[in-house]
Amino acid sequence: DLVPIGRALISVSDKEGLIEFARALAGYGVELISTGGTSLTLRAAGLKVRDVSDVTGFPEMMDGRVKTLHPMVHGGLLALRDDDEHLVAMAAHGIEPIDLLVVNLYPFEATVARGASYDDCIENIDIGGPAMIRAASKNHKFVTVVTDPEDYAALLDEMKRNDGAASLAFRKHQAQIAYGRTAAYDAAVSGWMADAIGEEAPRRRAFAGTLAQGLRYGENPHQSAAFYTDGTNRPGVATARQWQGKELSYNNINDTDAAFELVADLGTDEPACVIVKHANPCGVARGATLADAYARAFDCDRTSAFGGIIALNRTLDGATAERISEIFTEVVIAPEADEAAKAVFAAKKNLRLLTTGGLPDPRAKGLAFRQVAGGLLVQDRDSGQLDLSALKVVTKRAPTDAEMADLLFAWKVAKHVKSNAIVYVKDGATVGVGAGQMSRVDSTRIAARKAQDMAEVMGLAQPLTKGSVVASDAFFPFADGLLTAAEAGATAVIQPGGSMRDAEVIAAADEAGLAMVFTGMRHFRH
Ligand code: 5GP
Repeated sequence: DLVPIGRALISVSDKEGLIEFARALAGYGVELISTGGTSLTLRAAGLKVRDVSDVTGFPEMMDGRVKTLHPMVHGGLLALRDDDEHLVAMAAHGIEPIDLLVVNLYPFEATVARGASYDDCIENIDIGGPAMIRAASKNHKFVTVVTDPEDYAALLDEMKRNDGAASLAFRKHQAQIAYGRTAAYDAAVSGWMADAIGEEAPRRRAFAGTLAQGLRYGENPHQSAAFYTDGTNRPGVATARQWQGKELSYNNINDTDAAFELVADLGTDEPACVIVKHANPCGVARGATLADAYARAFDCDRTSAFGGIIALNRTLDGATAERISEIFTEVVIAPEADEAAKAVFAAKKNLRLLTTGGLPDPRAKGLAFRQVAGGLLVQDRDSGQLDLSALKVVTKRAPTDAEMADLLFAWKVAKHVKSNAIVYVKDGATVGVGAGQMSRVDSTRIAARKAQDMAEVMGLAQPLTKGSVVASDAFFPFADGLLTAAEAGATAVIQPGGSMRDAEVIAAADEAGLAMVFTGMRHFRH
């Protein structure tokens, strides 16, 4: 099943590693055919190249839109070398077989990422490249295809092992990768168009990503895993620069994303810090300084913060880095980190420091995915922002200004906590987080219980939930959860409202002297 490689068509936009690779091919006596820019590069390096226009008998035309779309090329790629009819057709038309296709596509994704105009993006949709890749891949019985400069070395190894030939197993492997590339490419085009024309619904579009990194393993060591970027270039873990520390794990990436999205949602008016464990925040706070914000976030749940992921909404400074260094932390992510902070962390070999250059826009549109057996669930990301004018005070007592500020903060945090989410906040810091319980009243109790534990750890006379406010990501179906929060010391409540028993819940709030506002918006996060 070895097929010797005698003729190669090379047409690449990314010319990285091209010359060395083509020189190695020429060393095996491979005849090289190329398109305009690729030919120029190879010739300039002193290599012998045939222009594709010689093969087709047509000039490259229409700004390169039509270069290789010709039977002389596609016949050479698609012909079955063991089929008499195909051989007769080749002979009749002077079609020469092409044994190796090396193509990487116009940089469509990169063009979109740099914010190019609509017309620019359109011009960067490669047509001939995908056509050739798909043809060569279909005909992998005879043809080898390479679509990524990273695979040049693998091909040369393969040829070395086989005296200038490629095995069927190798050709199949390459064809499979190649179809992945063209599928991802068209998905990127479809996704970009959906955004460009303002297609709202996540229907009738394709999804794909670009492999960013193979991961050592997945959520557990027996699961293999990889990380793909979606081309949107949002500041975040996918685009971050890592300054130090071990490679990010699957769980690190997931948790870092949760932390950074939450801190971005808090805005940039004041320094803010989020500490995440297992994709849930265990401490979120604003502060006079970043170090203060960290210290206050830490005080929400000092036990859980160990080995956590920390996200910051502004440049990490040395003082904050010092505070963070007091316990073990897995990852710190911030828009920037100053030299002093980097120097502090340099001594912490295991800490991963990531900077992103900015914060993601919490209002940005985009899709969120979840896999179920046999399918994918797709929805808009939860970019819902509270309309302050839609807030409704439903109790006799209205929240004070201080309570209101904390309610809005608690609401933002609750959006990022697994349902059923209950978040107690006092003075711009969480003091109790109840996450992921199957009953809302349990989340309310657990959060209050954690606050009680922290009071003991910190030697406080009473838990920090005394005089706090509380947010619930969805309505209280009964009064019990609300009353538990009141018992813990909450004085004000924010929740969507909309329960059949709203009247009962409001009456209970009034009786307990609570102030309560309805948001009319729910933030389930399952
Ligand atoms: P070059 O730099 O060699 O002039 O162009 C290389 C690029 O052209 C490659 O990315 C390849 O995929 C693309 N390409 C090759 N043939 C065609 C074609 O017929 N039409 C279009 N639009 N692109 C092509």
